[in-house]
Amino acid sequence: MTAPTETTSIRATLPRTGRPKDELLRELEAAKAHDIDFKHGRVAGMVYLAPDDVYQVQREAYMAYFSENALSAKAFPSLGRMESEIVEMAGSLMHSPDPAGSVTSGGSESIFMGVKIARERARALQPHITEPEIVMPFTAHAAFTKSAYLLGLKSIRVPVGPDYRVRIEAMRAAITDNTVLIVGSAPSYPFGMIDPIPELAALAVEHNISCHVDACVGGFFLPWLERLGRELPAWDFRSPGVTTISADLHKFGYTAKAASLILSRDQEVFEYQPYTFGDWPSGIYRTPNVTGTRPGGPIAAAWAVLNYLGEEGYLRLTRETVGFVERLWAGINATPGLRVRGEPVMPCFAYEPADPDLDIYAVADGLEARGWWVYRERQPKGIHLMLSWGHGAYVDRYLADLREVVEQVRREGRAGTAKAASYN
Ligand SMILES: *Cc1c(COP(=O)(O)O)cnc(C)c1O
Repeated sequence: MTAPTETTSIRATLPRTGRPKDELLRELEAAKAHDIDFKHGRVAGMVYLAPDDVYQVQREAYMAYFSENALSAKAFPSLGRMESEIVEMAGSLMHSPDPAGSVTSGGSESIFMGVKIARERARALQPHITEPEIVMPFTAHAAFTKSAYLLGLKSIRVPVGPDYRVRIEAMRAAITDNTVLIVGSAPSYPFGMIDPIPELAALAVEHNISCHVDACVGGFFLPWLERLGRELPAWDFRSPGVTTISADLHKFGYTAKAASLILSRDQEVFEYQPYTFGDWPSGIYRTPNVTGTRPGGPIAAAWAVLNYLGEEGYLRLTRETVGFVERLWAGINATPGLRVRGEPVMPCFAYEPADPDLDIYAVADGLEARGWWVYRERQPKGIHLMLSWGHGAYVDRYLADLREVVEQVRREGRAGTAKAASYN
């Protein structure tokens, strides 16, 4: 018997006769043995660690809608209602005057829809544009360039300033007669800094084009941070030119994968989101997203978790997370040779060498040898962390390992391996 994680040279084929369920489930459990131990904080990112009770709500609500299909709100009005309520709750959290949007499969799909809306909107408002372009900070998520590629737009990345936020003048200079969309992140994935959204949105108004705020990571964190007293720029629909926002439920909304939101400022903008086609044998096909069939599980789980936690629950999780992240930042800055990069606003950030002789990739190697999953950043060199509530219990252990590894690397003057910062 071969576990799916083991490499074999024999191509898999269907078994001639079906195998017993218990054996398969045992094999699935055993197959996880070689995966990263995310439950004990070994990976920062990919899995967002919620308290156990929240995880149970995710799981049970997901299973309650395991088979339902959100493709048709006529067949499953319950899912249609839940989706509308999620959009309305998130829309008011992000100060939309008239919330509209949909639940997507993830941040990448939300961004794709944001780019699609901008392209369609420009076709209507700026019909002279035949070769549309997107202008974005260098730090914008790769999904924007992927979407531009898939939708036939040109993608232009603008360098960021010394504080890792994009300079408004640099963005202005990159705008051409073909620009249909200006992008800003709240905050950016690589460094956790918020771009100057009010100024970017004003630039979009000036050119009568769209402005998308990527709040995939910040959408369900920044509102609570502000309520805890942190002053932030108007990163959401409070800035009048912001037309769309992407916000991941499956990140700091602590809901089950796959769930994200694409939100439009109002119905006028939302109109450009759905795709409709009727000239085939089966009549009118209208979908708001890329996908057709959509699992009910993620929508039911998101609806349940939002209602289970409520404002109080999110505030508590955010307060506790900020507490341990500030401790981690202080610990990194107190480690000779290291510093936190810039001034991040969230548990999504990078750290870097404060001493030019310290090879941060050697630190990465040392952490990996101790069982931590490490994301190497390349431009500039650094180590990236995306921490969620459940990482709080592992911060001291991480810091202790980090200090020992850095000491050793400095003592031995070791060089590291420049492995790609990749997911695969
Ligand atoms: C995670 C993330 C995305 C992409 O989201 P997926 O759910 O992985 O597709 C986009 N932008 C930012 C800022 C992110 O953190």
